[in-house]
Parts: sequence; C-alpha cells; structure tokens
Amino acid sequence: MKSSLVLMYGGTFDPVHHGHLRSALELTQVLPVSRVHLIACQLPPHRDQPGASGAQRLAMLQLATANEPLLIADDRELQREGPSWSADTLLSLREEYGSLQPLAMVLGWDAFLGLPQWSRRESLLELAHLIVVARPGQMHEASPELLQLLQQHELKPGEQLNATPAGRILRLSLPSAMQVSATYIRRLLGQQASARYLLPDTVIEFIRTNQLYQP
Ligand code: ATP
Repeated sequence: MKSSLVLMYGGTFDPVHHGHLRSALELTQVLPVSRVHLIACQLPPHRDQPGASGAQRLAMLQLATANEPLLIADDRELQREGPSWSADTLLSLREEYGSLQPLAMVLGWDAFLGLPQWSRRESLLELAHLIVVARPGQMHEASPELLQLLQQHELKPGEQLNATPAGRILRLSLPSAMQVSATYIRRLLGQQASARYLLPDTVIEFIRTNQLYQP
C-alpha cells in the first residue's frame, strides 16, 4: 500500500503570504499529501531591510494556518541554535516519521536555482524528494549542473512520488500560480501602501499591531 507524502515547505516567511499559502494548499489537492510543515528559518542577526523576528514570523505562520488542518506552522528551525541547514531539518523530519515515509522538500523555482550553493546538497535527495514549484516572474534557466540533476532524478511518466521515500524531483505548475513575494509586501508596507489581499487579514492585523515593516 502506498503512503501519503509529508512535505517540508521552508522559507523566511517575512511575512507569509498567499503565494506560499495557496501553493501549500494546492499541493495537498494535486498530490496525496497528509501534512505540510511550513518551517520558518533562522535569519542572520543583521539584515539589510527591516524584518520580523523569528517569533513574529512564526506567529504570522500560526495565524495564517489556523483553520487549515493539513498546514502546520513548524518552529523546529527556530528552536535550533545557529543557521538552518535544510539537510538537518529533513533529518529531523526523517527521525519523526521514520525511514519509509515518503518525504518531499518544496521549493520555488527561484530557490531551486540557488541549490548548488546549499550546504550538504548531496544529502538532500537521499533524505527526501524535491518538489519544484513554478513561480511566475522567475523564469531564469537552470545551470548545467542543475539540468544534470534533473536528468538524473526527475520523476518519469507513470512514476509516483509517494511510491518511494526519497530521491526524485517533481516539477509542477500549480493552478493559481501567484507573483506575490514578501519583498513586494515589505516594499508596499514601507511606503505605507495597502498590502491587502496579498496575505491574510489576520497577518496584516498582526503586522499593524506590532508595527512591522514600517518606513
Ligand atoms: P522574499 O521576497 O523575502 O525573498 P519570498 O516571497 O520569496 O520572500 P520566502 O519565504 O523566501 O518568500 O519563500 C519560501 C519558499 O516559498 C521558497 O521556496 C520560494 O520559492 C517559495 N515561494 C515564495 N513565494 C512564492 C509564490 N508566490 N509562489 C510559489 N512559491 C513561492
């Protein structure tokens, strides 16, 4: 019997927005997914733009996912000291779910293009599948190294991601691909312009109450 997939959806979530949330939900609609862990990463202490703290980014994730039982606001990277390596996070999910659980890391195409710079990238596909989600406005070509990785690991027609625990790459265009980014939202808020309908009202209210992303 095939099991369902557990997904790791990591990001800065500064702040979480409908691009993240709708992608996470649609993944549960197009694939046999039992849970999506939305995992906020640690950020370096000095950033070049006003950002929210780890606790605030987690609180926004909790507000955004409150009524969606398959979406989990996960604080495991914020609980750890030091930088967040995806390989460590996948290892921690592996320990939680066991070696046979089909596990996949979700990445936008832009994040996938940065993969060659990731630490311990060879171990990622040993620990999990990769699901690479198309992101409108992010059309850069993959490097020869990534094209080779795709050639080796891309899911073939007739294969299913949930048939094995790890090692495959699936490229997907989701039905409601959205161009929204956290950078754009921070820019709007920095100009005191409305960001409404790009992210949940509860998150906008949190941003207002905590005076985040102000000029
Ligand atoms: P920033 O603008 O600050 O870089 P972001 O909007 O890209 O932030 P992140 O938290 O960095 O958001 O993204 C986390 C993950 O979600 C990444 O894999 C990213 O590619 C993906 N992602 C972000 N926005 C979208 C979107 N609109 N559609 C699909 N995937 C997205």
